[in-house]
Amino acid sequence: RESNGKYKVTLIPGDGIGPEISESVKKIYAAAEVPIEWEEVSVTPVLKGGKTVIPDTAINSIKKNTVALKGPLATPIGKGHVSLNLTLRRTFNLFANVRPCASIKGYKTPYDDVNTVLIRENTEGEYSGIEHEIVDGVVQSIKLITWDASERVARYAFHYAQASGRKRVTAVHKANIMKMSDGMFLSACRQVSKEFPDVAYDEDLLDRACLQIVRNPLPFSNRVMVMPNLYGDILSDMCAGLIGGLGLTPSGNIGRDASIFEAVHGSAPDIAGKGLANPTALLLSSLMMLRHMNLNEYAAKIEKATLDTIAEGKSITGDLGGKATTKEYTTAIIDRLAST
Ligand code: NAD
Repeated sequence: RESNGKYKVTLIPGDGIGPEISESVKKIYAAAEVPIEWEEVSVTPVLKGGKTVIPDTAINSIKKNTVALKGPLATPIGKGHVSLNLTLRRTFNLFANVRPCASIKGYKTPYDDVNTVLIRENTEGEYSGIEHEIVDGVVQSIKLITWDASERVARYAFHYAQASGRKRVTAVHKANIMKMSDGMFLSACRQVSKEFPDVAYDEDLLDRACLQIVRNPLPFSNRVMVMPNLYGDILSDMCAGLIGGLGLTPSGNIGRDASIFEAVHGSAPDIAGKGLANPTALLLSSLMMLRHMNLNEYAAKIEKATLDTIAEGKSITGDLGGKATTKEYTTAIIDRLAST
C-alpha cells in the first residue's frame, strides 16, 4: 500500500482489443473509487543479448507490486519470438490458472445453471515448449509432467475448494492412454487429497467430462476440476461457450511470487480498434484480483453493477447480441454504480 492509501497494481494493456477493454476497466475503477493506482507497462519484446525478451521495466514492476492485470497478448503462430504469455508464466512461476465460469442471470443461453471452476496446471504438460525435428518429416513434441508441479496445483485446487465451499475436487485426465504422465498427475492428486478429508475427491476422463458438462452442467457446480495444461485450455473454452462466450470469462494466474489476472480470450484482431469489444471478461478478472487483495466490497459493488447491466440487456455489446459499443456499455455500468 502506498503512502496515499492506494495499492499499486501493474497494468499490461496488451494487444488488439486490449487497450480498449483496459480503458473500460480503468474508467469503472475510477468511478467506483477503488483504491488502486495503475502502473502501466508494455511487454512488447525488446532485443537483449541477441534474444527477444520482455522489457525489464515490466518484469520489475510485477515483481515489486506482486499483482498485475493483463490484457491479451497476440502470439505469433509458428516461427517468431516465444509466446510472451508463456514467458510471463515461467518468469513468475504462475503455477495455477483458475477459471471460474458462471451463468449470468438474465442473459439467456441454452444453459441456466453453469457454475464451474476449473484449475489448470499452468507451467508444463504439452505447453513445455520442447519440440524438435528428429529427421525430415518427423517432429517430436514432449509433454513434460513433474511430480512437484502436479502436487502444487493439486494442493491449490483443494485449498480453493475449501476456501470457496466447494465439496469435491475432480481430477480430469487421460491416464487410460497417457499412463505414465497423466498417471503421475493422478497419483499426486490422490496423495494430496488425503490431506483434505473434508473435501471429496474423484477422477474423470477428459472426454467423459466434456460429454457430461454439455449434457448437464449442474453436477459440476459444487466442485473444482483440476487438470494438466492442455486439457484445461480446451475445457475452459468449452465451459465459456455454455455461458455466452469468451467475452464473459475471467481467469487468474496464481504464482508464488506474483499473481496475474487476465481474460480467457485473446486479442480478437477481427474486432480490434472498432469499439466493439466486450470488456466484461477483463473486468471480472480484475474482480478476482480485488478479492485476491481482500478488497471484497469494491469487487461486490462492481460485480453487481456489471451483472445487472447485462441482465437488463439494454446496453450490451455485439457478442452478447446487443448493439452497444465498448464505451456505451462502460457508461451504463458507471451509471448503475452511481445509482446504487
Ligand atoms: P480470440 O479469443 O482473440 O478471439 C476469438 C473470437 O472471439 C473472435 O471472433 C473474437 O472477436 C471474439 N472475442 C474474443 N474476445 C472478445 C471480447 N472481449 N469481446 C467480443 N468478442 C470477443 O482468439 P484468437 O482469434 O484465436 O486469438 C487471437 C490472438 O490472441 C492470437 O495471437 C492468440 O495467440 C492470442 N491469445 C492470447 C491469449 C492471452 O493473452 N491470454 C489468449 C488466447 C489467445
